[in-house]
Amino acid sequence: MTDRLTSTFRELYGSAPDGVWSAPGRVNLIGEYTDFNDGFVLPLALPHTAVAAVSRRQDGLLRLHSSDVEGRVVELRVDGLEPGGSGGWAGYPAGVVWALRDAGHPVTGADIHLESTVPVGAGLSSSAALEVVTALALGDLFGLGLDRRQLALMSQRAENVFVGVPCGIMDQTAAACCTEGHALHLDTRDLSQRQVPFDLAAQGLRLLVVDTRVKHELGDGAYARRRAGCEEGARALGVRALRDVALAHLDDALAELDDPVVRRYVRHVVTENARVEEVVSLLGAGETRATGPVLTAGHASLRDDFEVSCAELDLVVESANAAGALGARMTGGGFGGSAVVLVEEAVADAVTKEVMEAFAAAGHRAPRIFPAVPSAGARRLA
Ligand code: ADP
Ligand code: MG
Repeated sequence: MTDRLTSTFRELYGSAPDGVWSAPGRVNLIGEYTDFNDGFVLPLALPHTAVAAVSRRQDGLLRLHSSDVEGRVVELRVDGLEPGGSGGWAGYPAGVVWALRDAGHPVTGADIHLESTVPVGAGLSSSAALEVVTALALGDLFGLGLDRRQLALMSQRAENVFVGVPCGIMDQTAAACCTEGHALHLDTRDLSQRQVPFDLAAQGLRLLVVDTRVKHELGDGAYARRRAGCEEGARALGVRALRDVALAHLDDALAELDDPVVRRYVRHVVTENARVEEVVSLLGAGETRATGPVLTAGHASLRDDFEVSCAELDLVVESANAAGALGARMTGGGFGGSAVVLVEEAVADAVTKEVMEAFAAAGHRAPRIFPAVPSAGARRLA
């Protein structure tokens, strides 16, 4: 991939790139919709990556190209970048340049050529991969001395402010900080983190990603309403964020809330946060199989309390569990996108077949199913 990328870069821009970098997509094992409640998440990096060939420029020009998008090189001036200005895919890398410059870093221009194997819009964070690979490359080329957390924060700011998507910090941190063979236990309040060994193959297990290949567009309202509902719950309970409500106090907390919708949102976030901690402690005790029912309970909470699932995601979980999976849940924002399924290696093929057949019988498009191998975070390749 590096050679092909380098030769395309040369065709586009007339000389070899200064270097080549990559950043991965991710799946979240558990901890959904906890990241805007200061809670815990547990993502792992996928082997699918966005790879960028990049050269530094001194003349204020920013040139962007992606093999995965029809069209020509996008040319922008770094001093003309404005949030909300340049729509489309170029907003992600351009947003990173804007965020770095806005923080006072002397990024004076770049030529960038990208190519990605992260499925787009499947809830596997192709956008964060694009941002983080750009941030890492520019950080290296301009000697900015940014650590991994700062790269993630710059990337999140690009997406929040420049592109205008109100995402949390999980995706960018996963792309920047995950390591091979581990899941990343991240506290989204202070960004403290721990690498949790997650070697499924050694235990005869497999984590399948099922990309439903559907995305039910509900508009930004669905996300905003849930975010506002969680904030309202925290306010009513007198805590800084729902992360501060302990599971042991959940019943008391729920009794204080009048709005039934807010009550359900609070119940999801508090129980989900506890599920992350439970999964981490089970993994630490070598009891990976016992995490299965916790994953499935997490799905039920997202489906019934947080109401972010959909028929296709529910069908993955039901059909996989019926075929002998240890557990399964939707992952990412929901309303389509992907699910994860924990299975014994010996039944992985049977579970895959069952899910495919269930989709066919329901008249859904065939999902894409592949194993999630915990892979490296962002790095320089050449
Ligand atoms: P997700 O991050 O879950 O895949 P998003 O909607 O957040 O979905 O981000 C998808 C967007 O990221 C695409 O619509 C596109 O603008 C941009 N993107 C992702 N991968 C690429 C790529 N290889 N080339 C150009 N743009 C990309
Ligand atoms: Mg995204």
